[in-house]
Amino acid sequence: MEQAVPQTFDRVLSSMCTRPHPVARAAAERFLATNPGDPETYRAVADLETEVVETLGELTGLDQPRGYVASGGTEANIQAVRAARNRASTDDPNVVAPSSVHFSFQKAAEVLGVDLRIAPVGSDRRADPEAMASLVDDDTALVVGVAGTTEYGRVDPIPELADLAAEADALCHVDAAWGGFALPFTDHEWHFGHAAVDTMTIDPHKMGQAVVPAGGLLARDAATMDALAVETPYLESTSQATLTGTRSGAGVASAAAALDELWPDGYRENYERAQANAEWVADALADRGFDVVDPVLPLVAVDLPDSLFAAVQDRDWRLARTARGELRLVCMPHVTRDTLSAFLRDLDACRDE
Ligand code: PLP
Repeated sequence: MEQAVPQTFDRVLSSMCTRPHPVARAAAERFLATNPGDPETYRAVADLETEVVETLGELTGLDQPRGYVASGGTEANIQAVRAARNRASTDDPNVVAPSSVHFSFQKAAEVLGVDLRIAPVGSDRRADPEAMASLVDDDTALVVGVAGTTEYGRVDPIPELADLAAEADALCHVDAAWGGFALPFTDHEWHFGHAAVDTMTIDPHKMGQAVVPAGGLLARDAATMDALAVETPYLESTSQATLTGTRSGAGVASAAAALDELWPDGYRENYERAQANAEWVADALADRGFDVVDPVLPLVAVDLPDSLFAAVQDRDWRLARTARGELRLVCMPHVTRDTLSAFLRDLDACRDE
């Protein structure tokens, strides 16, 4: 059988994943046959996971970080909801989140039997603390904010949301799955050091340039991880807090290698280049008369007529849209100025057809 052609990323403007860093790829290959789900047996990869959690703690302002390398943002978000549900003292828990929240929270609510209450966002596309407060009650187990929304790259007012959670005796979770590797180089207030945040999702396999699967769940308290742990009688290790059982040592090792190589200077360079590219392409699109949502983080949304979107997509660009139909250009590390110039040339050609 012929081998399938691997993903090249050259014309991918839709993805929140990217080409892994060469050191991450090499580390992944070395640790392919390891299982951090059984840390007593697979000790080397377990040590690497401890290193990853330590460095993610540094990135997110958390002194004694707890957590693990999840399969991705979805697992980390599900686990944050699970921990909050398990810690809450109610039989009918709810989670309050802005409408910009990732769809993984719908999965979490369904699987865990919690009520997901969605508040409208403000005109700035960020969570509106007042709208969220109106949904909070005695059964609220978790208040969620997003630091780098999937559709528009917005950063919610995390300190206000953390206050709201604290007043309700609920936990506060920040979903920085995508934004977490860019935000340390901005002035946004988003992390454990800025507010009473309890848990966070931050994914090395997105802006962190690790291989898939390498998501990240962080927790401030040991009690949160305890709330997730189950006993594991047939393994050398005696308990497990992860959602998956056997999991990829490749993801863990690649995250360790990428963080070692890139934190902080490499990530700063990635962010600055990506942000400059996003602002450049946003200006270029605005100059052409399109409605552009300004890039707070390296993600541009732009209103294109359906026929034009389809015509450019036909020129073999991998493109995605927001729920409202805008084109989303995610300026990941693999998206260069040359790539964006080529995209604009195709866009112009399609308009002239
Ligand atoms: N959270 C946010 C903000 C995301 O943008 C995404 C995916 O793009 C996720 C969570 C889910 O991550 P994953 O696809 O790795 O499960």
